Amino acid sequence: MNSESFEFQDHPYLKNNIKYCLTCGSKLIYRSWVEGDSSKQLCCSNSNCNYVHFLDPKLATGVVTLLDKKIILLKRAYNPRKDYWTFPGGFVNRGEIVEQAAKREVFEEVGLKIEIKSLLGVYSFDREPTVLVAYVGIVVDGIPTINNESTDIKFVLSSEIKLDELAFETTKAAINDFRKIETT
Ligand SMILES: [Zn+2]
Repeated sequence: MNSESFEFQDHPYLKNNIKYCLTCGSKLIYRSWVEGDSSKQLCCSNSNCNYVHFLDPKLATGVVTLLDKKIILLKRAYNPRKDYWTFPGGFVNRGEIVEQAAKREVFEEVGLKIEIKSLLGVYSFDREPTVLVAYVGIVVDGIPTINNESTDIKFVLSSEIKLDELAFETTKAAINDFRKIETT
């Protein structure tokens, strides 16, 4: 194990402060779950249980949603990153097809039915638990309406978007990539 990966593994945010086993209530120990594995996991200290709590990445999906060639941006009502802007998206449920999750999130957040046009990219960053799968989608039906997750909506050309107003590094990276493919 090199020192860099050790440091990464020990980052308190990634341990998530979970202290007790979810199945037996014994203390969890942060260690390799099998000998030779360089990753550390939260392992139950009770040898009759041996439960391992894998802190998996969190999968999110989002859609650069186009309505008359303009991108739909939503102003976040809640933290993290309240009052910053992002395109519609959210977490993928366990067992859900990612593309379906993307369509579901757009419908829930802006009341629009979309067609997925293409995969834009997969975005992950150092020490960042969320991995974003971003698509490009086109509105096929509905009238834009926000729900209580947003306080505002706007329709903008990609050139009008200021990266500083966007909520997450993943959002910025996706918009950046969209600008590159937009003209092709
Ligand atoms: Zn246990």
